[in-house]
Amino acid sequence: MDDKIPNESHFDSSTVKAYTAEELSNEGSIGDSTKPDDIVLVDCRNYYESAIGHFETSVRPNIRKFKYWPEYVDKNEDLFRNKTVALYCTGGIRCELGSAYLMKKGIAKEVVQLDGGIHRYMEKYPTGHFKGKLFVFDNRQTVISTAGGDDIEHQDTANRTNVSAASDTGSDRNEDAAGGNILSRCSRCQCLHDEYTVCENEGCSLLILVCEKCRTLAAPSKVVCCDSCAESEHGRCTCVSQRQRVPTEV
Ligand SMILES: [Zn+2]
Ligand SMILES: [Zn+2]
Ligand SMILES: [Zn+2]
Repeated sequence: MDDKIPNESHFDSSTVKAYTAEELSNEGSIGDSTKPDDIVLVDCRNYYESAIGHFETSVRPNIRKFKYWPEYVDKNEDLFRNKTVALYCTGGIRCELGSAYLMKKGIAKEVVQLDGGIHRYMEKYPTGHFKGKLFVFDNRQTVISTAGGDDIEHQDTANRTNVSAASDTGSDRNEDAAGGNILSRCSRCQCLHDEYTVCENEGCSLLILVCEKCRTLAAPSKVVCCDSCAESEHGRCTCVSQRQRVPTEV
């Protein structure tokens, strides 16, 4: 981890105030479209996590790794300056590290973090302000639907044969769920789609959104993230080499 981010043992979490799921859910609160302008809600997760699920009023940094957080803050000081910055992440850990860096910079009026992260929020408010799916790390991609708390799917990205087989009815499911809970799109046909797979070019570990129909169309070619991954087994793909590592928000 980047040495600018203090590790947990160096961080005194008692210095950062937590805000609760309730505070995020009430009308006029942080998660509501009527939130006051001096509060900025920031998603501390990586772009591929926030792409498939987020609080709509949040700023979602287009960064691929959390280690770029300090650089993101440095580049976007005005986003935080004199604001109450409310951070959220999956379970709360990254907020602690993220808020520590913000506090050290001393530009925000106040830094608060969501107690228990999106996890706890969704337990309490499965149909609340959090829209889409929650992406969970652990070698597996766990997608938890917000539409009813018991609709939980597990996807093992290391075992995509099974995922594909299980997704044969995926288009139906997408149509059903298209009532608002899929926020992202297939990178090829732009249909609503939020199930990640890994680029099939060995050596490229990018998570990609490619729907079942486009996978079928691509067969027997590998399903890859970009042309350079289709052409070469080594070297940097254009997705990585052409994207800005740390964006400046407008
Ligand atoms: Zn598609
Ligand atoms: Zn690739
Ligand atoms: Zn690529």
